[in-house]
Amino acid sequence: MTVSDDLFERARTLMPGGVNSPVRAFGSVGGSPRFMVGSDGPYLTDADGKDYVDLVCSWGPMLLGHKHPAVQEAVHSAVDRGLSFGTSTPDESALAELVMQRFGGVDRLRMVSTGTEATMTAVRLARGYTGRDLIVKFAGCYHGHLDSLLASAGSGVATMALPGSAGVTEATAAETLVVPYNDRAAIEAVFAEHGDSIAAVITESAPANMGVVTPGEGFNKFLLDTAHAHGALLIVDEVLTGFRASDAGYWGLSGRVEGWTPDLFTFGKVIGGGLPTAGLGGRAEVMDHLAPTGPVYQAGTLSGNPIAMAAGVATLTHATPEVYAQIDALSLELQQAVSGALNAEGVDHSIQTAGNLFSVSFGTSERGVHDYADAQAQEAFRYAPFFHSMLDSGVYLAPSVFEAWFLSAAHDDVAMQRVYDALPAAARAAAAA
Ligand code: PMP
Repeated sequence: MTVSDDLFERARTLMPGGVNSPVRAFGSVGGSPRFMVGSDGPYLTDADGKDYVDLVCSWGPMLLGHKHPAVQEAVHSAVDRGLSFGTSTPDESALAELVMQRFGGVDRLRMVSTGTEATMTAVRLARGYTGRDLIVKFAGCYHGHLDSLLASAGSGVATMALPGSAGVTEATAAETLVVPYNDRAAIEAVFAEHGDSIAAVITESAPANMGVVTPGEGFNKFLLDTAHAHGALLIVDEVLTGFRASDAGYWGLSGRVEGWTPDLFTFGKVIGGGLPTAGLGGRAEVMDHLAPTGPVYQAGTLSGNPIAMAAGVATLTHATPEVYAQIDALSLELQQAVSGALNAEGVDHSIQTAGNLFSVSFGTSERGVHDYADAQAQEAFRYAPFFHSMLDSGVYLAPSVFEAWFLSAAHDDVAMQRVYDALPAAARAAAAA
């Protein structure tokens, strides 16, 4: 029994499944989760004193690595000023300006505490603005755990192979129209039938919760044009991709080039540098429908919390072009190393990318992964042995094949060498599955 095993036994009697977020459980890979007690740069340390190269990065936020000196210092200094004032603070505007300098089309920003709250508010705002009820979402996209967007969701819902969630009323589910990703005909059909009642289409800027899926060329622009042609809004969820795929998220790689800017963006993860902050932003005309300027109500006791704002401002300030260039290059190198190791063992796979974001799927090389059906059809059983082999070698991957691999600016040569050295054995384990 390891210390982590003991801690898990205890946690299981205290929390459902022993975890506070289902994606942390080792449900689809087996074994007991590692309990982490410390971190530094690219490493996590577990309760048994073993360290791991962290390829989860807290599911995205730790773009600069763990304990980045400037972020730690900004947080310590904010803590010294107090934990929460329940009033406006200067750093809220500083963070809003940093977002607006990066993303086009954001005239106003509202800070919330989680990505779920950001998308929940965006959906309510779209309904309040348009006076319509229906929302279109894509199968395999995950936008948080709000009732209306859990149907055919990615992330933990995909890992557990659930069609949606118990506890969501039929009436709510009926207000969400689910269509296959990358499928223009399906979007046209849904608008042809319900066009007058659709408040918004919500999409991940590039899906990364069914594994990564590359949006077809011009797909997001097509969504924007189709939505607008019918008087609906486009909500682009950059919670995962924002400030990670580039300084302006996936929009920076795609929207700026193809010429699409949504009505509303949602942000999370990197924007708070590891503390609970998220946000939604967009055109003033739409955003000003939020209270107190407008009739769509939204509020939060801890919204714009000063510690979280300090972490966000420090993180975005230090997320320089060099940081993105470094992560882009590292990502390519790692993709090639993974592919090389799997090819050497004859494991059929594909690497799916969206900028520096990538994921690995098994048995998919022939048809690729363009939507949720493709993602679900993969040889997911090869992932558990691959994952555990990497874990034994001191590399922490997400405990689900449906998640992206995350890198940080702190992943140096020493850390990456450990990952590369671990790959051949993991590939052999995947081959033997
Ligand atoms: N949207 C996307 C694209 C996400 O990846 C996530 C979380 N992984 C969310 C929304 C929800 O964010 P949170 O977990 O902070 O509620």
